[in-house]
Amino acid sequence: MQRRKFVNVAAAAAAGAGLAACATGTTQSGARSPFAVKTSTIPIVGSDEVFPVRRIYCIGRNYRAHSIEMGSNPDREPPFFFQKPTDAIQYVPVGTVADHPYPTLTKNYHYEVELVAAIGKGGRNIPVAQALDHVYGYTLGLDMTRRDLQRAMGDEKKPWEIGKSFDHSAVLGAIHRVPQVGHFRNGQIWLKVNGTIKQTSDLQMMIWSVAEQIANLSLANELFPGDIIYSGTPENVGPVVRGDVIEIHIDRLPNLSVKIV
Ligand code: MN
Repeated sequence: MQRRKFVNVAAAAAAGAGLAACATGTTQSGARSPFAVKTSTIPIVGSDEVFPVRRIYCIGRNYRAHSIEMGSNPDREPPFFFQKPTDAIQYVPVGTVADHPYPTLTKNYHYEVELVAAIGKGGRNIPVAQALDHVYGYTLGLDMTRRDLQRAMGDEKKPWEIGKSFDHSAVLGAIHRVPQVGHFRNGQIWLKVNGTIKQTSDLQMMIWSVAEQIANLSLANELFPGDIIYSGTPENVGPVVRGDVIEIHIDRLPNLSVKIV
């Protein structure tokens, strides 16, 4: 009886956050476990199914002007990737302005608007020409960044995880399936803070296309359904403070908004 009660509370708490509790006391393999662990899921537009998130990959410095503002030479750099933990996802429903908590430890909290590709078919050594066949759908999101900590760690040649991979740092909307929205090779991408344009570019300005990102990632790691890829941000990243409202846009997707609290 006590256990049943716990399950219901956990499931109810999880529903609002885009997290789903696995069956209490058992793992997917059927072995019993001492507690339930939540798994992250993302709603799928026009479906009562949800997209279970296996891994979150992010590409770094994938627009020329952003690469230059971060101090790199985009003509020399091969693509590189980092990860965020799957429970860093903050799902934002369309038509809402979700509260996004200003994180601890930083004094320079930055936005990065990005196209997000969701993988529906896994593989390794995927050729570029076939790579888009592996995409289940797309959404838009924010790769939120503690820029001061990211820079400090980089300067010390330490991992920049504390700057990138923290609670709520992976903001995104519901997934739109490829049969409904097609693929995203071009189109406007922009970000506003309090109604003022801060970032604006076109997806065709990406150094590595989504197809090239998938092909490249699949050389380093086998990809699986449930992997998502943040495809990089254009130039003019910048800080927000408590009270700011961020609105982001990618052509053919509904806008997404959060308020920093
Ligand atoms: Mn980014």
